[in-house]
Amino acid sequence: MQTYANYIAGQWLVGPSQRPNVNPSDTGDVLGLYTQADSEQAEQAIAAAHVAAPAWGLSSPQVRADALDRIGSEILARKEELGELLAREEGKTRPEAVGEAARAGAIFKFFAQEALRLRGDKLASVRPGIEVEVTREPLGVVGLITPWNFPIAIPAWKIAPALAFGNAVVLKPAELVPGSAWALAEIISRAGLPDGVFNLAMGPGSVVGQALLNDRRVNGLSFTGSQATGQRVAMAAVQRGAKFQLEMGGKNPLLVLADADIEAAVNCAVQGGFYSTGQRCTASSRVIVERAVYARFAERMAEVTQALRVGHALRPETQIGPVVDASQLQQDLDYIRLAKEEGARLLAGGQTLTLDWPGHYLAPALFGDCDNAMRHCQEEIFGPVVSLIPCENYEHGLALANDTPFGLSSGICTGSLKHAHHFKRHSQAGMVMVNCPTAGVDYHAPFGGRKASSMGAREQGSYAAEFFTSVKTSYLQA
Ligand code: ADP
Repeated sequence: MQTYANYIAGQWLVGPSQRPNVNPSDTGDVLGLYTQADSEQAEQAIAAAHVAAPAWGLSSPQVRADALDRIGSEILARKEELGELLAREEGKTRPEAVGEAARAGAIFKFFAQEALRLRGDKLASVRPGIEVEVTREPLGVVGLITPWNFPIAIPAWKIAPALAFGNAVVLKPAELVPGSAWALAEIISRAGLPDGVFNLAMGPGSVVGQALLNDRRVNGLSFTGSQATGQRVAMAAVQRGAKFQLEMGGKNPLLVLADADIEAAVNCAVQGGFYSTGQRCTASSRVIVERAVYARFAERMAEVTQALRVGHALRPETQIGPVVDASQLQQDLDYIRLAKEEGARLLAGGQTLTLDWPGHYLAPALFGDCDNAMRHCQEEIFGPVVSLIPCENYEHGLALANDTPFGLSSGICTGSLKHAHHFKRHSQAGMVMVNCPTAGVDYHAPFGGRKASSMGAREQGSYAAEFFTSVKTSYLQA
């Protein structure tokens, strides 16, 4: 079986241990052994980035644009193969995975151009003979810590702006999905970047991630993952004065009003709630439905949910792939049990499935008659579990939608321009969707949330410069 090494200072280096990458659709299928750095190797990666950062920070934006463009072109040319690898290690379906790979390619292409578009400001000083200039500079070394649910897109949307704006990178991908990150690193290794500008350090969060948190040479930390780890990142960053950016999930509401097109609304709820196996931080896990259409909506959504084809991620007929691993499956099942104990009514699914392959299969679970105060409606489950919550009218629905510790994305299905406008303004979420699923966003628009979902500057689009650069104001006496 092939062993995949870390990429540090332009060298492929094996660490002291290896971890098998297991296919959640078929646990007998092992994609390879992926090296795990120890704290010494993590330190080596940080040192390499630290050495490479100053020259890279002063490099021509044309050099950075060309390198990023080459990376983007190769990802796009190989999107089918990269998508298959991604589907095999993470379990989302092949079309979802190929779409994610294509998105990663588009992100690199977008940031190739952003490298050239970085601009400053010139202000008239209030004092005579002085010029004021505002410029943006790279942070230096950035540590990028990524989760398992978007194995190539999230690394891409952190790496591409980091490099575009002249930072040196250490990427620490999630333990469960090193394959896509490794493939991306291999592409980056041939893009003509100086040694040490990009480093891949696969390994445990508690070792490699922690090394990035603690090391004073790491000037910025961009993290996507759980709330608990996000809080550790923030505390460490505050203590040693590093810049940080956190994305930590959601409990996203989709509000369905009585004047909505019910078939379209069911489609939004099913897409947003169950596709990618519900393993998206933007998944609509709370569907709040106006009482007047609640029974009709619940009945139709149960029918559609029941008919979803769960199966091997690489089979063409599959609509919903497996849960990513045994411990996430256990978490989903624990919440399903809790929902029943709390008095929610199971309308469809919720049971594990035994299929032709040994995998972590779960029938998407739809609960009806939920109360927003129930624990399973307040805590992020991160699986194919959707709770239907009845509401009396628009105002009540809006209040329920906002009654959550999270604030990543939200949605409304309605035919009313008045309610759509009001919801856009009053929803306490970073991203608001009208008549479309809460999950599924463009790669050139800012991504991020409010409340417990996010901290720090937005990711993606031109807004990414806020995190990956530092503003400098210069005063010059002519
Ligand atoms: P999830 O529950 O989605 O796995 P985590 O927050 O545990 O979320 O993981 C997200 C990323 O954070 C992963 O790359 C993981 O290895 C990393 N991580 C976990 N623990 C730590 C830690 N103590 N310090 C830094 N990174 C960590």
